Amino acid sequence: MAQQQSLIQLPEFRNVSTGTLVVKEPLNFWNGARVRPKDTKSVEPVYEPATGRVLCDLVPCGEEEVDQAIKSAHSAFLKWSKLAGMERARIMLEAARIIREHRDAIARVEVANNGKTITEAKVNVETAARCIEYYAGIAPTLSGQHIQLPGGSFAYTRREPLGVCVGIGAWNFPFQIAVMKAAPALACGNAMVFKPSPMTPVSAVILAEVFKEAGAPEGLFNVVQGGAETGTLLCHHPTVAKVSFTGSVATGKKVMEMSSKGVKQVTMELGGKSPLIIFKDCELENAVKGALMANFLTQGQVCCNGTRVYVQKDIMPQFLEEVVKRTKAIPLGDPQLEGTRMGALISRPQFDKVLAYIDGAKKQGAKVLCGGEPFAPSDPKLKGGFFMSPCVLDNCRDDMTCVKEEIFGPVMSVLPFDTEEEVLQRANNSTYGLASGVFTRDISRAHRVAAALQAGSCFINNYNTNALEMPFGGYKMSGFGRELGQVTVEYYTQLKTVVVEMGDVESLF
Ligand code: NAD
Repeated sequence: MAQQQSLIQLPEFRNVSTGTLVVKEPLNFWNGARVRPKDTKSVEPVYEPATGRVLCDLVPCGEEEVDQAIKSAHSAFLKWSKLAGMERARIMLEAARIIREHRDAIARVEVANNGKTITEAKVNVETAARCIEYYAGIAPTLSGQHIQLPGGSFAYTRREPLGVCVGIGAWNFPFQIAVMKAAPALACGNAMVFKPSPMTPVSAVILAEVFKEAGAPEGLFNVVQGGAETGTLLCHHPTVAKVSFTGSVATGKKVMEMSSKGVKQVTMELGGKSPLIIFKDCELENAVKGALMANFLTQGQVCCNGTRVYVQKDIMPQFLEEVVKRTKAIPLGDPQLEGTRMGALISRPQFDKVLAYIDGAKKQGAKVLCGGEPFAPSDPKLKGGFFMSPCVLDNCRDDMTCVKEEIFGPVMSVLPFDTEEEVLQRANNSTYGLASGVFTRDISRAHRVAAALQAGSCFINNYNTNALEMPFGGYKMSGFGRELGQVTVEYYTQLKTVVVEMGDVESLF
């Protein structure tokens, strides 16, 4: 029997070093096919962060295209939502298998478009496959409740999908964010229209092809490209039932406001400035390793990073010596090479912004212990890349801008403290509340501190050890609603109560 040809079009990356356009296929996807928008006047370049060269063009979707994508999702929803959970699970498991089959190629796409290292990108793609498997496992378990009423009557609840859900993503984990929204949405019987960040448009369309190849109805997972304007059209569209947003607080507020007009449900996964508290009784080597994991993954562009590192005064000298030694030793350079541990920042403006934060920190009295400078890899093809050396800042105070604001770059701010009470008060003195961490050998203190920290996650004696089974989301201005874990089912379904009368109607009239 002839083997069926794969539908998945992976971009050709051989030409990256020459700077030629490598992604020629349209990056939008609805009704089961890639689509090029009609209006190509406002085309924008998409960059490869490691070289600074243009990777492809971004053609934003307008009103007509957004409407087509939503209609496509709606017609798929009508079929998909009628399938039994087991049938949805079978297709989702096949999608996970296909992702794993193409893991390395998808990871290379992610590196070229995002600048993160191939090692991290492979983990991200594997995490995406697992995420789909996890929610495929949940799909057949969705069920309601039976409620006994007087006289043999009863009620039951049905857990029903919402309909067409919109996902809007950030650029730091492009493929993983798309999957973290699509997997629970689809498992619950919804269809999705996803809009990636205009800086990282390339990998989401591969996910759309994966679902199609896995046997999902055409239109189940659609991709529209664009920035704020396209996002606005999605949030206002009357057919959309829910918007799951990942991005900055400022944009999140706008998305909430727009969604409120149509009383659409929203999930908000926003920014953070998370505290990591290191007590003197910690296992120091683990605390140092934890602080690096809390700050330098994906060039520090991770929402839950522990960028305010509070260290008890007694161990500050040893901590700083070890942290600086290890930070200076991070292999920085070509993100496509297996040995590299830090790649390039996402864009020139982000690179300039992070360096400006470091400059501002110095002016406010912080001391740069290492890094914080533009870095030029020896390979000439990387000359235009957005590389900077990872930075450790000492002499920080809580009132400094670098300690209060989310920098979103490889910058660790270290702050001394004396007592538990004092550090908790300082750690919680933030408008954000995404994550937190504590290193101590004292088990009572660990749980006391975890309970007192105002954040959606707390890592004890480690940091950034995220798993699909664990809910993830924010307190305060870091957002609300949750992604991952079983609880996410609540955010992609609605409950219907059905009341069954077994006797006669007793009427007051
Ligand atoms: P951003 O807010 O600039 O953009 C996020 C998305 O919103 C993009 O797709 C963008 O095109 C879209 N958008 C912009 N204006 C819009 C509008 N008016 N209407 C609808 N959509 C609009 O954020 P970013 O720079 O892409 O990402 C960085 C931020 O994301 C950081 O603050 C980071 O902490 C946060 N983030 C949070 C999580 C989380 O899970 N909590 C995960 C990753 C990133």
